[in-house]
Amino acid sequence: MPKCEVTPNSPNVNKCVGAKPPAVELHIPIKNLSSRNLQTTNTPSGNIHFREQKGYFQRLRTMMNSLLIVLFFALPFISIDGRQAILLDVSQQQFFFFGITLWPQDFTLLAWIFIAAAFSLFFITVFWGRVWCGYLCPQTAWTFMYVWIETRIEGSSNKRKQLDKAPWSASKIAKRTTKHLLWGLTALLTGCAFISYFIPARELYVDIFTSNASFWVTCWVWFFAVCTYLNAGWMREQMCIHCCPYSRFQAVMFDANTKTVTYDAQRGESRGPRKRKQQTSLNEPTLGDCVDCNLCVEVCPTGIDIRNGLQYECINCGACVDACNETMLKFDYKQNLIGYMSENDIKGVRYTYWRSPRFLGYGIAVIIMLIVIGLDLHGRSEIQLNVIRDRQSLYRETADNKIENTYQLKIRNKTQETKQYQLAVDSEMPFSLIANPIITLAAGEQLDYPVTVLADRDNLASGRKIIQFSVTDIKQPDQQVSQKTGFFSP
Ligand code: SF4
Ligand code: SF4
Repeated sequence: MPKCEVTPNSPNVNKCVGAKPPAVELHIPIKNLSSRNLQTTNTPSGNIHFREQKGYFQRLRTMMNSLLIVLFFALPFISIDGRQAILLDVSQQQFFFFGITLWPQDFTLLAWIFIAAAFSLFFITVFWGRVWCGYLCPQTAWTFMYVWIETRIEGSSNKRKQLDKAPWSASKIAKRTTKHLLWGLTALLTGCAFISYFIPARELYVDIFTSNASFWVTCWVWFFAVCTYLNAGWMREQMCIHCCPYSRFQAVMFDANTKTVTYDAQRGESRGPRKRKQQTSLNEPTLGDCVDCNLCVEVCPTGIDIRNGLQYECINCGACVDACNETMLKFDYKQNLIGYMSENDIKGVRYTYWRSPRFLGYGIAVIIMLIVIGLDLHGRSEIQLNVIRDRQSLYRETADNKIENTYQLKIRNKTQETKQYQLAVDSEMPFSLIANPIITLAAGEQLDYPVTVLADRDNLASGRKIIQFSVTDIKQPDQQVSQKTGFFSP
């Protein structure tokens, strides 16, 4: 008599030793893949202690996550011309970015950059699904860093599960205390790193660790430290599953050519255990390539079984791909039973991205945004000029038969060096300026400059005339701004 059992991890599949397994219902019939319906899977309650996995995609992910973390901490320490290269100085309302100074008026440029980044993300998603989540999202990077610390102190996933259940002892208290202290220190450093994009980094770290920082700076650092600790230490995958909006709308960017982590159900089913090196086609013709080792579930940071189909909890980290490839290697089966595959890859359909409307749409949008950013940067002036007319009176008549109009000029030097400017007024009529035309402004300085423009009454027709103020950098005449305004006479 054949002996059969039902595994808890794959309740739909009978494991039968000594008998051909009965036909089973595929978890994702291929016909359903075309719709790419998203399925949800209940995640285990409490912390998920997933296994550490090694392999190609895990090396790639670790490398990219590490690069992100190193850049995040190191960038505020890079200086250009004695100034922090990236600094959002809220009090001065200036944003320094590698030698460029952006003012609130320039924030359209930042808006373009954000829009371009969003379209780039959509564009990449069309090709590689949620690859951003697995490889570059800070939530993933910090979560894996926290889990790495946890693993070094508490041991493998099985040991961590046992420790969770074990009664409190001196050893458990020591391990938990060490872990939380290290998590706390990492969180505090992360809080400092985040605030160092707003406050000069070198002083900030010293001030925080010597308790010399101001009350509000300390509050903000601790606020971000607590957020990091809760996020990466406790919330982890819950943030991806319940809070991240990207996971909810990613499906609209997918099409049949999107390569995302997918289980090849056609090849894998019927799943079932077997001896190593057993050739399914010879000994168990009805068995698929999935040996039901459950490793793909054990390594998953969001606790899902990718064999149940595409799920919004999947962050495309590739851990299950590496785990399954390891198993396939042991059984001498073909790689990529789970892999970065598209629906068309599985069906064996040849395809080209160029014809995809999403590829074209997002690609064109990215190119347009890059052109807009280029034009914005090219047209950016290093001088800012605002002309405001005197609101008290339209004009004044002087004793020597002249008409004068008064204006308030707001001139800003948007560079990081002292500049000398030439002020001029242009018009078809002969006007003269009653103000010093040479203006010196320190780096970032804004000057409120009152000027009076004078004209002979005999030369003026009545009504409003157009005049133009211009401010020119004396050393760089190509840096010039001008603004038109009205000149009134009786
Ligand atoms: S790792 Fe591969 S072989 Fe093992 S259960 Fe998952 S899909 Fe099946
Ligand atoms: S299913 Fe695979 S790729 Fe998706 S989150 Fe889990 S381990 Fe990562």
